Amino acid sequence: MDDKLKVWVIDDCFAKATTNGRRSLIDSLSENSAIRILKSDPNEFENFESKVESEFSNQIDLVIVDYKLDAQGQIFSNGSDLVSLIRRIALDTPIFLLSVDIRSEDEDKSIGDFERTISDNYLSNSENMVQDVDSLRAISNNFKSGNKDILMSLLKCPDFDQDNLLHALPASVRKSLKSKTENSEHQGSLVRDVQHKEDIPTVQFTRWFFDFFYRVPGFLLDSLSCAILLGVDLDYFESNIVPNIQEQLYDGPFSKTVEKRWWKTELESWLIDMDASGALGRTTNRFCEYATLLRVPKENWSKCVVCGESWPETIAVLSEDQGQEKYPVHIRCSEPDAEADRHHYFSQPRIVTE
Ligand SMILES: [Zn+2]
Repeated sequence: MDDKLKVWVIDDCFAKATTNGRRSLIDSLSENSAIRILKSDPNEFENFESKVESEFSNQIDLVIVDYKLDAQGQIFSNGSDLVSLIRRIALDTPIFLLSVDIRSEDEDKSIGDFERTISDNYLSNSENMVQDVDSLRAISNNFKSGNKDILMSLLKCPDFDQDNLLHALPASVRKSLKSKTENSEHQGSLVRDVQHKEDIPTVQFTRWFFDFFYRVPGFLLDSLSCAILLGVDLDYFESNIVPNIQEQLYDGPFSKTVEKRWWKTELESWLIDMDASGALGRTTNRFCEYATLLRVPKENWSKCVVCGESWPETIAVLSEDQGQEKYPVHIRCSEPDAEADRHHYFSQPRIVTE
């Protein structure tokens, strides 16, 4: 068996006689020598199993499915039939939903039974995709060996965060790491043993990555959350700060195909290292202290979108905003989203107070 990365693409564009943009994108992915692509037409359900078996020996690193969404962004009911069929063949393989109907705010989210939603843009850079699939294979191998240190080094997790990150993992993923180190006789039998979706660690980990780890401020911060932490406005952050914090960037799995994120603890260490005169921690307003340390002009200090005053502590969305655009706000100018679940280590979604 060759050691190329194996991607199974299920898309009705393969059944069409004429070449379209999607098919050209997938064909150009096939030109990358690191990947093997298996193409299937979703209408040929009955041939799936034998096709995958003969081409891939069931060793699949990633499945990409084109599926139409309805007007509300819901997957049509037979979408889950397709997913259960794929899971039967490729149990612990993440499935990405490829759609032209994805709203930009849903991109990269998990929807329904899919671990991540992607647009055609994802297919346009084969090198970035190779990195993602390579990461997935490394993650999968990690769960087969059950070694938590390998997972931490794959994520390039700062030492300071490792214990907390281990606790933040979904319980089933954490358990699979523990049980493998404690009981080595189960090694290699993972896929045969698991029966339920919640027991398949690579899938669960990938879903958790896109739902929480990357999306919700906690271990990693997006540009706006970084700007708030540093007490600066977003424009100033992007033009004056970003060039100086390249080493603090998250560059583990999927980092080439998602928006930039920074490790919060690495940013804080960077500030402490810069603080030669010991100015930090003298007041109760760390935002002001950070902005002062960074010599940020007063007109670029961060401002709350509600009251217009400085030093918002958090982000919030407008209650009626379906687009979920985030704004810098004070805690006092926002309230927790009562409908959102709370997750330890991750900030709770908030809504701007009317
Ligand atoms: Zn405010």
